[in-house]
Amino acid sequence: MSKIKLPADDNSCGWFETLPQSLKPQQRSAVARGKIKADWLVIGGGFVGMAATRRLAELHPQAHIVLLDAQHIGEGTSGRNSGFIIDLPHKGDLVGKDIERKQKFISLNRAAIDYLQTQVERDQIDCNWSHSGKLQGAVSDRGIRFLDHFQVLLKELGEPFEVLDSAALQKKVGTSYYRQALFTPGCVLMQPAALMRGVKENLPDNVTVYENTPVLELEQRQERWLARTKDAEFSAPKVILGTNIFTEQLGHLKHRMIPIMTFASMTRPLNDAEFTAYAAETDWGLTPADYAGTTLRMTADRRLIVRNQYRFVPNYSSSYQERSEISVMHRNALKARYPMLENVEFDYTWGGVCALSQNYTSYFGERKPGLFISCCHNGVGAARGTISGKLLAEMASGGDSDLQRFMVEVSGKPSRLPPQPALGLGVRTRIKVAEWVSRSEV
Ligand SMILES: Cc1cc2nc3c(=O)[nH]c(=O)nc-3n(C[C@H](O)[C@H](O)[C@H](O)COP(=O)(O)OP(=O)(O)OC[C@H]3O[C@@H](n4cnc5c(N)ncnc54)[C@H](O)[C@@H]3O)c2cc1C
Repeated sequence: MSKIKLPADDNSCGWFETLPQSLKPQQRSAVARGKIKADWLVIGGGFVGMAATRRLAELHPQAHIVLLDAQHIGEGTSGRNSGFIIDLPHKGDLVGKDIERKQKFISLNRAAIDYLQTQVERDQIDCNWSHSGKLQGAVSDRGIRFLDHFQVLLKELGEPFEVLDSAALQKKVGTSYYRQALFTPGCVLMQPAALMRGVKENLPDNVTVYENTPVLELEQRQERWLARTKDAEFSAPKVILGTNIFTEQLGHLKHRMIPIMTFASMTRPLNDAEFTAYAAETDWGLTPADYAGTTLRMTADRRLIVRNQYRFVPNYSSSYQERSEISVMHRNALKARYPMLENVEFDYTWGGVCALSQNYTSYFGERKPGLFISCCHNGVGAARGTISGKLLAEMASGGDSDLQRFMVEVSGKPSRLPPQPALGLGVRTRIKVAEWVSRSEV
């Protein structure tokens, strides 16, 4: 069997480590051995794979559906993000004059929120699901210019928003570091590892989930797709890949996705004295006005989370040394915003790998007969990954809908990338430039 690169995430993700007891992985889980025939195979249990599996189970209650993941569900990037399910088009998707296209993005994102919310409510998933909305905060003139532009776009789209000045922000987020923020109400915040594990725990009985079961080879033989793991060979007529950046390792969309890691740190819960000094609200989230700035969250249980920094990661992983250095940068970002909390330690610092494309395009569709893929959501996969997984399951089942057509229209093919070392050099330079121009927002 050829050797492929597999997920190698660190085991210091705060969301996974602080899972409620009921959602922690149990010792006993399905073990894969021998030849296993299924009606449907889903590989990768992140936002895409979980939504695809759930939808297949709804559409085909009599079918045997198998979901394979290389790690525990919730351990991959979908369980280690900042937990914003964003309804409005984000960054690159806002560029351009085509209002109808942007409205399609909004419909898709809101359908994702609805789909997840139905599951969270029905199955009572303990993932701190919260309609908190989202702040987009600016520190510098450059940041304010981004917010001014964002306001124009929101008005064009007829979307409600509120402008908060520094004093209003001080009351809400406990710091006067930001000069201004735009609040948009549609974003949902959640605990991502808990959401992923909660969805997994409540999958219908016709689904078998094999965790810690990496697929080492995927091939089509006659009318079936074969997925080989260390001790088993799974086969099914149709397969859905929700493996994002790892899709290229399974032989598809090679040299089209840029592996980028971004990092987060989570403090311990503030004690009462610290919370009194902080003197503001819990359960909010703030994304940066500028691309390379800092994302900030305060959880309902009084933990602060800082996310920034990007690294080009051709091996899809980061070292302990790298994370330690980044933890210091996170500490500086926290201290700049909350000097009174400078003694509050981080309990966890972790990274997660995302797939970006040069032409800011994601992939959605039937790549080969019976092989369906959705990937490369350019770092905002909570909403797009979820809805694309659901719609991919519908497409693979012969369904058709307006949303499915929207998804096809807004997707494309990530453009081909230059080979290494040119790719690494180019991406690292782009990251450095972005960090430099956004330095006041970090
Ligand atoms: C720190 C951080 C903050 C972020 N914040 C946000 C945010 O707030 N909102 C947002 O929308 N997005 C955010 N993102 C991005 C978002 O998390 C990703 O876009 C999203 O998780 C992608 O989902 P996915 O299902 O496509 O892929 P993934 O989550 O990468 O899932 C792929 C799955 O495939 C499995 N896999 C891979 N190879 C194999 C194999 N060979 N065999 C079996 N299984 C395999 C992996 O284990 C993994 O579980 C953030 C990312 C990071 C790192």
